[in-house]
Amino acid sequence: MTYRLCLVGYGKIARDQHHPVIAEHARFELASVVSRSGVLVDVPVFETLGQALADGPEVDAVVLCTPPGPRVALAEQAIAAGKAVFLEKPPALTVSSAEALGALAFEAGITVFASWHSRFAPFVETARIWAEDRRIDEAQINWREDVLKWHPGQDWLWQPGGMGVFDPGINALSILTEILPVEVGVSEAILNVPKNRAMPIAADLVLSGPDLTGRAQFDFRETGDEVWDIRLTDARGETLTLSKGGAALQIGDGFVREAPEQEYRGLYDRFAQLLYDGVSEMDLRPLQLVADAFMVAERHSVAPFHDPSSVPR
Ligand code: NAP
Repeated sequence: MTYRLCLVGYGKIARDQHHPVIAEHARFELASVVSRSGVLVDVPVFETLGQALADGPEVDAVVLCTPPGPRVALAEQAIAAGKAVFLEKPPALTVSSAEALGALAFEAGITVFASWHSRFAPFVETARIWAEDRRIDEAQINWREDVLKWHPGQDWLWQPGGMGVFDPGINALSILTEILPVEVGVSEAILNVPKNRAMPIAADLVLSGPDLTGRAQFDFRETGDEVWDIRLTDARGETLTLSKGGAALQIGDGFVREAPEQEYRGLYDRFAQLLYDGVSEMDLRPLQLVADAFMVAERHSVAPFHDPSSVPR
């Protein structure tokens, strides 16, 4: 069976990943796109999801690649029309609206997939298996990238709900919650917020769990190569290091294994399975941890942030 998709929000991730992966996937077909900026693609383009659903080709599911702000309202619209929903991360602006969305989908018997692409990095499953029977004493996350390289012109990131540096940081938290055999929480946080912005450019979190201490450092001010590392230490002092966002793995001082990343292929395989089984997947723990960090955080005001490629709408 092939599932026909409507892709909503044709920005960086829709262009770089969703569209090419859908084009190559045997179980999916792109039927329409919703874009306010009138992109040129080889399927019909509509300005709103309402128009696409009313006047466009029949679809089975809607893939939401907008910023998180409009995501829940769009998902509700899709569910009301009987369409399954693939949510880019984060699934919603708030934990409560994501929970309400999950309940709505359940009542309607509609599949919703709250995707966490980093969980589909090549060595995440290996890390989960390594950790599953161990007592993990320590978890260290170091997640740094150049915001101007990875998020040029994305003003939404800096507005309330845009999450700032947690937009990539939540990827690390999605991996951590997947691989740890215990639940982890945020007990302290420092958020560095540029004087001219609402959201943090850097964050430093203290993590805690049963027998576990940890730290997560997120920073958008990296000017060299990105660093996307997670290191676990077990009770005997043995370590596992995931780097390159999960595309490289080192156990102890052993050799570093690397594999090509195919996260979005993995996401669409999972979505196809969920659609086939008629079930939903909505793990909100990464979003909850971000919300908790904002609740316990001390805020520090730091130098203003200017993005030369920002174009006012
Ligand atoms: P982006 O480049 O800013 O693209 C988002 C697109 O959504 C915009 O180009 C716009 O497309 C549409 N849009 C923006 N505001 C909207 C609104 N209020 N209502 C409806 N449509 C709106 O952002 P992105 O990097 O693709 O990120 C989108 C989502 O994917 C975010 O949640 C992000 O966390 C997630 N994500 C991003 C990456 C990445 O590497 N960039 C990786 C994984 C996940 P039109 O002008 O065509 O309407």
